[in-house]
Amino acid sequence: MEVPVSRSQIALPAPGMGEPYLLTPGPLTTALSTKQAMLKDRGSWDGDFRAMTKSVCDQLLALVGDTSGAFACVPMQGSGSFAVEAMLGTFVPRDGKVLVLANGAYGLRAAETMRYLGRAYTLIDKGDYMPPRGDEVGAALDADPAITHVIAIHCETSSGILNPVAEISEAVYARGRKLLIDSMSAFGALDLNVNAIRYEAMVSSANKCIEGVPGFGFVIARKTELEAAKGNSHSLALDLHAQWATMQKTGQWRYTPPTHVVAAFLEALRLHAEEGGVAARGARYARNRDVMVEGMRGLGFETLLKDRWLSPIIVTFFCPAHANFDFDRFYEAMKAKGFIIYPGKLTVVDSFRIGCIGQIDEHVMRRVVAAAGEALAEMGVDNAAPPAAAIAERAKLAA
Ligand SMILES: *Cc1c(COP(=O)(O)O)cnc(C)c1O
Repeated sequence: MEVPVSRSQIALPAPGMGEPYLLTPGPLTTALSTKQAMLKDRGSWDGDFRAMTKSVCDQLLALVGDTSGAFACVPMQGSGSFAVEAMLGTFVPRDGKVLVLANGAYGLRAAETMRYLGRAYTLIDKGDYMPPRGDEVGAALDADPAITHVIAIHCETSSGILNPVAEISEAVYARGRKLLIDSMSAFGALDLNVNAIRYEAMVSSANKCIEGVPGFGFVIARKTELEAAKGNSHSLALDLHAQWATMQKTGQWRYTPPTHVVAAFLEALRLHAEEGGVAARGARYARNRDVMVEGMRGLGFETLLKDRWLSPIIVTFFCPAHANFDFDRFYEAMKAKGFIIYPGKLTVVDSFRIGCIGQIDEHVMRRVVAAAGEALAEMGVDNAAPPAAAIAERAKLAA
């Protein structure tokens, strides 16, 4: 079923394996060598595995440009949300208060996490995708001196918008507050250099832009914040301070680590460095997006976001208004052609998403566009233009 394509800068999954490409923002399509790295059992206490954990942390710290040794990397078992919860529970003191900046599902999840933690928070909810801007963050902080921390989502994966974290950081630190960043779906492809953007901690996970498999997340945090966080956590298992302290003392994770996932992640990091690091990874994803968006627009599809807000991570398209268009049929047709796409998360109009991340390149993206064109033809949709309500929705967002 797989058509061999010309090989470019990346090692595509072996053709003929019958696996569809995952055009989803994690789990995503990983390299064969990343999968193969898991074909070995390792003891978590063993010196070899401890060295692997250390290497993972050292490489992640290098990716944020920490040359001063002011930051530490603390991995945490579980999916990304476990690490977000660990970050919020560890760094926000019990008498602290968080301003949550939400413009989609992941911002709302951060607010929900605060509710579970039973700690004070306030929410700026911008709806499905409108970006939280520096001036409104500043105004919210001026209005409420009790706020100690702000949490921002770097790329809000539910729409694909790239939020303006630099201007948010400026607004936060101009008022002496602290910034936490959920860079889950952006880290590794978009720069979050500690020397360029100020923050106390950021969180990401193994199965997004580094292109590992799911199983752990990691928090990169200022050591002074980690030291001050002792006793803050609501949770035994999600206490980042305790995980960090144990790792410093023994080199081991506190509880059973996902050994196979760590091995795969080390191989994924090797491929990331070989490709050229954050800049090269980001450039490949941006090229994936540009080729895919141009092709889809050529078929008549329209993006939710104007170009300036489009991330190179995932893109939301409006479903066509045509009476014959049916998302479930479109999904199945795309899957039959070898591509798993993603339903949309907008509340106002129907949409779907196509991810740009993982072991895919522009050749794959051209095939995605061709498959979408065939799927439309099979459904008898000769015009992919969205409904007027979708265009009206998009007009709300500044260019
Ligand atoms: C993927 C993701 C998460 C974590 O989701 P999990 O399903 O728990 O891995 C959190 N925030 C953002 C922005 C994400 O893209």
